Amino acid sequence: MKIGVLALQGDFAEHKQMLLRLGVDVVEVRLPRDLECLDSVIMPGGESTTFAKLAMRFGLMTPLREFAHQGKALWGTCAGLIFLAKDIGRDQPTLGLMDIKVKRNAFGRQIDSFTTDLQIESVAGGPFIGVFIRAPSIESVGANVRVLCALDDGTIVAARQDNLLATSFHPELTQDTRVHEYFVNMTKACKPGYPDVDDPAL
Ligand code: GLN
Repeated sequence: MKIGVLALQGDFAEHKQMLLRLGVDVVEVRLPRDLECLDSVIMPGGESTTFAKLAMRFGLMTPLREFAHQGKALWGTCAGLIFLAKDIGRDQPTLGLMDIKVKRNAFGRQIDSFTTDLQIESVAGGPFIGVFIRAPSIESVGANVRVLCALDDGTIVAARQDNLLATSFHPELTQDTRVHEYFVNMTKACKPGYPDVDDPAL
């Protein structure tokens, strides 16, 4: 299995480290040809407006959309979540793949960053530390989207739509590999011919 990490900007190195810890082959994705032979891609945290500018400059928008349309798994954390979304309530280019309505900087400015314990569906073994850095929230989800995690006040912070995964928070900034393991399993489950009975979240 080979997983790509979009390496235009943001904390791609931390995602790479997590995958290496899980023994996964990792490729840094900067150009369309880097997507060849990959089974899935992670889009890191960073600045979503910068992702859009660079992805357009390097011709990655259509290849990333096609990658997802092939049914391969795509996971966006924080800015990556924004980049995945169909509706972010403002005129900013995104991949427009996931049927979610997103609010950028929903928890305030950089100084309002926080961590909190999360219960994530299909991530067993107790609470997961959610690291929120000028994070977006998911305001609403389409009928085909499953909410995987919400805060106590109901704010949605993780969701899944078939081969697409979105988290407002940064599992790559913890020492806890469980969400990355979830994504590795999802990557396997999205491979053609893989029996989906092994993936409880499908
Ligand atoms: N606030 C950033 C944005 O709007 C996201 C921050 C992050 O990825 N930690 O793109």
